[in-house]
Formats: sequence, C-alpha cells, structure tokens
Amino acid sequence: MNKVGELLGAAAALNQEAAADAPLILAHVLRKDRSWLYAWPEYQLDDRALAQYETLLQRRLDGEPLAYLTGHREFWSLDLLVTPATLIPRPETELLVEAALGLPLQQARVLDLGTGSGAIALALASERPHWHITATDISEEALEVAARNVKRLQAANIRLLHSHWFEFLHGNRPYQLIISNPPYVAEGDPHLREDGLPHEPAAALTAGPDGLNDLRTIVAGAPGFLQPGGWLIVEHGMDQGTTVRRLFGTAGFETVETRQDLERRDRITLGCYSRSP
Ligand code: GLN
Repeated sequence: MNKVGELLGAAAALNQEAAADAPLILAHVLRKDRSWLYAWPEYQLDDRALAQYETLLQRRLDGEPLAYLTGHREFWSLDLLVTPATLIPRPETELLVEAALGLPLQQARVLDLGTGSGAIALALASERPHWHITATDISEEALEVAARNVKRLQAANIRLLHSHWFEFLHGNRPYQLIISNPPYVAEGDPHLREDGLPHEPAAALTAGPDGLNDLRTIVAGAPGFLQPGGWLIVEHGMDQGTTVRRLFGTAGFETVETRQDLERRDRITLGCYSRSP
C-alpha cells in the first residue's frame, strides 16, 4: 500500500485524533497541502516518503502532538516553528493578544515574559509594527526557536532577551504593557498526563504545588517595570481567576478584570497600574 488514497483510507480507521491528523502528516511528508492529497489519490509514495509517513504516524499514535511531528503550528494566522523546547501555542492564548490590541496604547514598549516560540510577541508585532517588543525566556533553546521565527516572519520590532522573569531586566519602569502566558498547571495535576502534555517542556507548564508560583512572581514584580498607567495581562488556569485577581489587587493594580475563553472558562486577567513611583 503506497498510494495516497489507500493511505488516507487506512488512516480513517485509526483512533479519532490520529485519523484527523494523518492527512496533515501525509501532506507534511509530501510537502503539499491537504487539498492536493484529495486531488491525487493515485499518487504513489516512494519508499522513503512512505517510511517517513509511517514513522510519524506511529509517533502520533503514541501520543506525540502533531506540531512536534511537523515542526509547525499556526497562531494568530502566523506559521510558527515549534520544537519540544517550546510549548505548543494554544488557541486560547490568542485571547491575550486580543486583549492587548484592545488597550488604549499608541506608541508602546511591550514586555512578553516567557515567550517560548515567540507566539505572543510575533502576533503583536504583526499587528502593531510600531510597538517595541522585548520578549524573554529562561530557556536558551526556546529563545533559539523564537529567533528563527522572528527572522522568518521578519519582525523587526522584537528584541529577544535571556531572562528569568524580571531577574535579568533593567530600566526605570520602561514598559506600557507586560504580557505573559506563564506556566500555571499544578505539579502532579492529572491533566499533565494527557493531550500530549508529557511531550511538552515541564518548565513551560508547571509552577509549584498550586501552579501559581510564577504568576505570583510576575504580578508582584510587574509594577516595578510598568510606567504609570501601564497594563499587565496574564493567562492562567480556569480555576485561578479569583486568586489571580486578588494577586493583582494586592500588587496595586486597578480595573482588574478576568476574561473567559471560548469554552467559558476563566483564562486571562488584566489590570492597570496607575501609581507613580
Ligand atoms: N493551557 C495549557 C494547558 O493546560 C497550559 C499552558 C500553560 O501552562 N501556560 O494545556
């Protein structure tokens, strides 16, 4: 069996996720798009392509996320490179981007903490070419992936920096906006064993026994880096809205608001820091 139509037919009988992803894997192997597959069912794969398809399909059946198999993931209509050194950008993280674009900011200096593949920074850069965006990560490997994405998408307004949250940053409250999708899953959460999460970098997913360690650091540290009237927007877990709003309040943020994702789960919180130094 080496024809496109036969392979797609066989894949349809696999478990739901593998059946849905098999055409995408096949298209990736053949460097075509999906519609090409359906137009050319008689096309015969050579041995090398067939072996590559079978290997990748088996890895998918073993639970590896599609994005790590193809090395690509779309976010905010941008084609991003991803590797196992970076979290795979999630659709709900587009909410952070929407919230940022909805703020009354003209010229802005923006800080994206824990940028991973660079997804948030690149989405903002594509929409607001005049913003100056600094994107950080503690992982040098992730920063290399982000750098490749910045180069491929020719985002001239992103600067990448190695930093552990605010630790290696300087300046006298330089930013009008700080944005972050930090790790927020509790260590030991059963969700970590599902949905391909075992293949993603633990450091990008978990943050202490309640998942809030990094959110605490970010919310408490942000006022020291925000201009008066600057904004902080963070993503968090669906059961963390109340606690995160409290953290914002304790840190001195005002107009604090939590927004829900498409599945009506608390997902992001934002607030404004108006106090002068
Ligand atoms: N939303 C991701 C998940 O639960 C977690 C991402 C994160 O920790 N920032 O699958």
